[in-house]
Amino acid sequence: MVYINHILGDKVMLDEVLKANENFVKNFEPKKMSHMPQKKLAIVTCMDTRLTGFLEPAMGIERGDAKIIKNAGNAVVGRDVIRSVAAAIYALGVEEVMVVGHYECGMANVNSEKLTETMKMRGVDEETLSGVNIDEWIGAIGNEEENVIKVVEKIKESPFIPEDVPVHGLIIDLYDGKMKVLVED
Ligand SMILES: [Zn+2]
Repeated sequence: MVYINHILGDKVMLDEVLKANENFVKNFEPKKMSHMPQKKLAIVTCMDTRLTGFLEPAMGIERGDAKIIKNAGNAVVGRDVIRSVAAAIYALGVEEVMVVGHYECGMANVNSEKLTETMKMRGVDEETLSGVNIDEWIGAIGNEEENVIKVVEKIKESPFIPEDVPVHGLIIDLYDGKMKVLVED
C-alpha cells in the first residue's frame, strides 16, 4: 500500500510531520547555539533508523556537541564523506574523527541483482544501469567490522585530510548499545 501511495505521489508523512512540528514548537524553549561542535568531534555513521536517538546517548553526545555525517552503511563512496569531514576539520574546528558502524547493517550483503531489478521496475532505464557496478555504486558492504576499518583507512589516506587528526573506528551493538573499538588512531 505504501508502495502504491508513493507511486501516486501521495504525501504519506508530510501532514503528520507538520502536525508534530507544530506541537514541538509550541513546547520548545528556543535557544541560540554555536554551529561549532563543542566536543570538536565528527562522527561518520550509518543512516540506520535504529541509530536515531540511540547513538548519541550511547556516546554521551548532546545537541551541539558533534558533527554527525550519516549515509547508507557509513561508507565512503565518491567524495562526499571526505568533503564533509574536511569541512568539519577546516571550517568547524573538529580535531577528532570517529567512524561508527553497527551490526546487522542493511547495506551488508545487498542483493545487487534484486536491487537492479527494483530500480528498473521503478523507472531507471537500462542505459543508466549499463556498465555500472551496482555493489560499488550503492556502497554495498561485506562485513560490518571490515567496512569500518576500510572506511577509516580511506579517510586517513585522503590527501585532503590532515595527518594530525586521529580517525578511530568503532562498532555499536544495536541491541544493548555496547561499543567496540576496531581502530584506535
Ligand atoms: Zn547500517
